Amino acid sequence: MHKKLFIPGPIDVREDVLQRMAAPQIGHRSKDASALQRSISEKLIKVFQTKNQIILSTSSGSGLMEGAIRSCTRKRAAVFSVGAFGDRWFKMAKANGVPADKISSIPGQPTTPEMVDEVLSTGKYDIITVTQNETSTGLMNPCREIGALLKNKYPDVLYLMDAVSSMGGTDIRVDEWGVDVCITSTQKCLGLPAGMAMCSVSERAIEAARQVENRGLYFDLVELYDFIHKKDYQYPSTPSLSHMFAMDYQLDRILAEGLEKRFARHIEMAEYVRAWARKNFALFVEDDRYLSNTLTTITNTRGIYIGGLNKKLGERGFVISNGYGDLKEKTFRISHMGDYTLDEVKELIKNIDDILGL
Ligand SMILES: *Cc1c(COP(=O)(O)O)cnc(C)c1O
Repeated sequence: MHKKLFIPGPIDVREDVLQRMAAPQIGHRSKDASALQRSISEKLIKVFQTKNQIILSTSSGSGLMEGAIRSCTRKRAAVFSVGAFGDRWFKMAKANGVPADKISSIPGQPTTPEMVDEVLSTGKYDIITVTQNETSTGLMNPCREIGALLKNKYPDVLYLMDAVSSMGGTDIRVDEWGVDVCITSTQKCLGLPAGMAMCSVSERAIEAARQVENRGLYFDLVELYDFIHKKDYQYPSTPSLSHMFAMDYQLDRILAEGLEKRFARHIEMAEYVRAWARKNFALFVEDDRYLSNTLTTITNTRGIYIGGLNKKLGERGFVISNGYGDLKEKTFRISHMGDYTLDEVKELIKNIDDILGL
């Protein structure tokens, strides 16, 4: 039996979108391939709210995260971490020999503009990375405010953002916030199968990257950027055409729903889960300003056995997530992202209530 995925990615993909993956292959150097990739880029520009170049990558989001920090760091990167995915960015920097320091927040607390200001005032850094939506703790960072700080006080510092679990599910204004590289994956809020990633990249990020000597090759943003420009939206190596058929179609669905409506639907689902969690448990993120709109991390105040709950949910055709890493059993996570509706979330919660006798 298929279990409906209420984990923070991958999530269920609508049947008609999934069907597009089965379309016949086309040559990746054909005019049709160029047209497909141009079409996707033009639609993603709207979702990212940017005029920057879109780069598609046949990898998961982590590939572009690694490529971005390696390609764009000239001097030293300040990696702001609010959990597992900020930590991952720091590990990538280290593994690539990229000079970097990690600035961690207490789990459940954000990266604040004040923290960023203090770190950048040392003058040691030319790039920062921030997690827009931390999937381990269910926290959304004040990225607009961080962007405003950079614009006002540190205009030469590059702003890299992990929006893997939020792009397409919450309002992220790449240009207005001054984000230089904004990265996301297919399998979360965009409601697509896992296996591709995309980012927007500013001209100045590319100019900075041109000054970096060892950028690798497959995830070198300059290589990808130049190839797209020279070869009419094509890529140096063979992309996942199947994903792109589905993406082109799903982006039409997303834009037809309308971004504002889509974001409102995510907030509606989030508010429902939060209200339930507050009534029966507690929210891991205590300050309401930083609650994620795309997933909720719930503190297991009742000490229930999450593994057992998930097994019983599985028998009913649902699955949620245990806590991430050290937070396993101490917390659990319910995602409300992608194409899910409030009714589907209500149905999940009804089943949890039933199993727990709430
Ligand atoms: C899922 C996730 C990632 C990793 O993305 P992949 O596509 O699995 O490589 C990175 N950051 C955040 C915030 C995520 O939720």
